[in-house]
Amino acid sequence: MPNVTPGAPPPEPHDWRPLRFMVIVAHPDDADFGPAATAAKWIDAGSVGRLVCCTSGDAGGDDWRTDPLELAATREAEQLAAAAVVGYEGVAFLHQPDGALANDLALREQLVREIRTFKPDAVLAVDPDTLFHSDGGVNHTDHRAAGIAAVDAVYPAARNAMSFPWLARDGLAPHTVRRLYLFWTNHPGAWVDTTATLQRRIDALRAHASQIRHPEQLAERMRAWARDEGAAIGSEAADAFRVIVIEEDEPAAGESEGAAAS
Ligand SMILES: [Zn+2]
Repeated sequence: MPNVTPGAPPPEPHDWRPLRFMVIVAHPDDADFGPAATAAKWIDAGSVGRLVCCTSGDAGGDDWRTDPLELAATREAEQLAAAAVVGYEGVAFLHQPDGALANDLALREQLVREIRTFKPDAVLAVDPDTLFHSDGGVNHTDHRAAGIAAVDAVYPAARNAMSFPWLARDGLAPHTVRRLYLFWTNHPGAWVDTTATLQRRIDALRAHASQIRHPEQLAERMRAWARDEGAAIGSEAADAFRVIVIEEDEPAAGESEGAAAS
């Protein structure tokens, strides 16, 4: 927990909550290995969430003879089942190629379309600064590409009327996302207590049967991960985020548009 000073009191659990949020990931299952318990918690509290998968995970198999289109269909079905467990209002698949995701203008335009259509207050994505995980391992190139594409789509493109001007011409007005919640980060600064919804994340992950090699170990593995994160705030389970505030909240003047603290 790099941002926690030894000896200092633990930080408070993070309790800002977006009214609408979008999770942008590279592959089916990333969101469920990622911030699913936070998504479930916010949805239970009344937020509306949408999931965007840039690829359909068509390279996520061990046998080169696998038909990528069949695998993509399987993984989309798995993700839809998992999303129903978490409670997302919908899932978009952008059908970019698995293993070859690039933060190019085509992907950015797709993401800007999604953001301007759904109008989230917050976007959750992989921290694109994570090349190597602090506890070991390489962060998949698609994860990094999806993360930086999400950041670039949020700022400045989604809010800039002159980015992809044909979108505004076609009725998709610029939209300002107020915050980024970056997960799988080596720079956590906010911890959402997920004790109440960790089981939903585990249940959602079970839907990704094609990707879970040891289903009997899944629950304990997820509880251990969540416990490691939760230690920062003295809770049984948490999701850790690097939060980037792009637009401060309006000074509290009743329940106006924008975002709400829970
Ligand atoms: Zn992935």
